[in-house]
Amino acid sequence: MVLNDKDLLGGPSPLPEPIKLQVSPDSAHMIRISDIIDRITEYNPDADLDLIDRAYIFSAKVHDGQVRLSGEPYLSHPLEVAGLLAEMKLDVVSVAAGLLHDVVEDTHASIEAIADMFGPKVSHIVSGVTKLSTLPFSSDQARQAESIRKMLLAMADDIRVILIKLADRMHNMRTLQYHTNPAKQRKIARETLDIYTPIASRLGIYWMKNELENIAFKYLLPEEHVRIEGLVATDKAERDKYIETVKAFIRKKMDENHLSCEVMGRYKNAYSIYQKMQNQNLTFEEVYDVIAFRIILDTIPQCYEALGLVHALWKPIAKKFKDYIGMPKPNMYQSLHTTVIGPYGERIEIQIRTRDMDRVAQSGIAAHWSYKEGKTADLKTAETFAWVRNIVENQANIKDPDEFLENVRIDLFPDDVYVFTPTGQIKSLPKGATCVDFAYAIHSEVGDQCVGAKVNGRMVPLKYQLQTGESVTILTQKGHQPSKDWLNFVKTVKARSKIRQWIKTQEKERSRTLGREMCEKAFRKVRLNFSTLSKSPEMDAAVDSFGFKTLDDLIIAIGYGKITPLQLVRKLLPKTKADEEQKSLLSRLTGRVRKRKIGSGVIVKGVEDILVRFGKCCQPVPGDSITGFITRGFGVTVHRSGCTNVVNTNSERLIDVEWDSSTHEAFPVQIKIRAADRMGLLADVAACISKSGANILSANTQTLEDKTVASFFTLQVSDTDKLNRIISGLKKIKQVLDVDRVG
Ligand code: MN
Repeated sequence: MVLNDKDLLGGPSPLPEPIKLQVSPDSAHMIRISDIIDRITEYNPDADLDLIDRAYIFSAKVHDGQVRLSGEPYLSHPLEVAGLLAEMKLDVVSVAAGLLHDVVEDTHASIEAIADMFGPKVSHIVSGVTKLSTLPFSSDQARQAESIRKMLLAMADDIRVILIKLADRMHNMRTLQYHTNPAKQRKIARETLDIYTPIASRLGIYWMKNELENIAFKYLLPEEHVRIEGLVATDKAERDKYIETVKAFIRKKMDENHLSCEVMGRYKNAYSIYQKMQNQNLTFEEVYDVIAFRIILDTIPQCYEALGLVHALWKPIAKKFKDYIGMPKPNMYQSLHTTVIGPYGERIEIQIRTRDMDRVAQSGIAAHWSYKEGKTADLKTAETFAWVRNIVENQANIKDPDEFLENVRIDLFPDDVYVFTPTGQIKSLPKGATCVDFAYAIHSEVGDQCVGAKVNGRMVPLKYQLQTGESVTILTQKGHQPSKDWLNFVKTVKARSKIRQWIKTQEKERSRTLGREMCEKAFRKVRLNFSTLSKSPEMDAAVDSFGFKTLDDLIIAIGYGKITPLQLVRKLLPKTKADEEQKSLLSRLTGRVRKRKIGSGVIVKGVEDILVRFGKCCQPVPGDSITGFITRGFGVTVHRSGCTNVVNTNSERLIDVEWDSSTHEAFPVQIKIRAADRMGLLADVAACISKSGANILSANTQTLEDKTVASFFTLQVSDTDKLNRIISGLKKIKQVLDVDRVG
């Protein structure tokens, strides 16, 4: 199953002839050994270059005559692999092993000969790579498990074996176009996604992960790949200009604060854009972070300072902030991540880190693998890779390949949980996902209609967070509907967006019914028939004047409370009749409602002329947080936001209201005073209230069985500040036990 390099050989490999280096005529673009040596000397001036030279000559000799499918001499492959390893700044042992990685498998050279010529370290690594290469190429679960197991064993033994394996796969993927069999290309690409990219990601070698993913994507979903690359390329000039604008903003802000930094903007790879579109059900235009920005600084305090400056420049999205400096990822990745609302109202993803962190982010484990001879990885690295040893040690006894594979996946993708459907199918979900997420992962309909869940046969609440290995059964009921409350606990984007979509449709439907009902009633009051008028040109004109396309849209807006039915009635009534009607409605209402003029004290957002009354249940006063409730047919009643009468009501009838700051009115509010009964108590209370300048509208006292008294006062106050001052004044009176606002 692991890509066998023999697959890339163009023909039978003849016996190696004595030193006769074949040089391809068009080898100008091919990497040369001198390039590799230059690169190594750059980062390690004391490197044992003799080892590299000898490995190169030997590899050239034994591979001589072999040709890649590309038509190039086979030697180009080990050279490219060694070049990648030098790019990753690995030690000479790794680079030498890279040059020799295929000789044991593909030529007649023996591992003993390698040991003799290049020493035990090089031969140990070459033998590790060879063992992995000889694994059979198969998508069969058992064999795949076996391959991963061997990979992990090799990794625990010497991580450099895997680094060479990754470089080997990298070059093979880069030259995958020379395979003429599309089925084989896809198989190799699939395997790269299944095994190699998770390992690269877990090791923190993100550039490799990205490039491998992108090439695999190109072969697995060629049409999608072309489409997304095309979309990224459109408006490229405009996008490039955008990148420059954002970079300039950031640079200017940093300069003003004397922070020297490097700012970069780059396009994300096509595969990660594709994944985002798939996972979150987005169109290309909705994937906001096609471009990612990065700020590189010198020190950690500078990073936090830069973060503060970015947040001062653009509003951050609170939930999107991640501090991987304070809490590095298991693969040692460190960075600050934030998403802000940029200069054009768009979301911008920004990473902030030090130069050192950037180096680690690029090369991951390789950055920590000291290139100095004879020195092994530092303690921190060793600790980090304890997970490899753990997997190997814990898995050694597992005989069932499926079980092994799942266990490895858990370790390679630590942020996911794996659960089973009743038929034994595996579903992967993000950590913290609930039964509802699972239901939506199965099918939108299952999600919409789920009423209960069983985990391992036991009933659990729908918000239960699933654990890896659990078997989940979802109970559904036809016609059952999703609940808004689910939004409080679901983790997956799919579940969230499906629930939201459902609520939106429902609200619209409810608003339509309610709006129609409100219109019919309002029209009936002025002796008009709404249905008949619906088809009239006057109605068309009214719809138009409110800025809607159809009457249906207008009715929905009325149902939402954005427009009152009276506003519509007035459009359809002759002017004088409308005024008359308004007056009569007013007089009728003032008869029932406590006296209050239109809009007094409160502004109903988006609506000018609307009758406002105040809930007797909760008696709001300025300073209270308030909510408006559209009464059936006419007017808005203002309640305190926590009032049970609005909390338990249909939300489509609620409307935003706010206090009119210019109001100077006093509002009634009832308070309850509980006190131990004594002479002169009431007088003291009344004096205290009068001293504060508030009117007492009514008072009423009851003596309770426990010899305490409960007094209810209705006062007139201008705002909550005043009320609170009165309450605290009352609390200071002798024998007063407590004072509360009623409602
Ligand atoms: Mn190879």
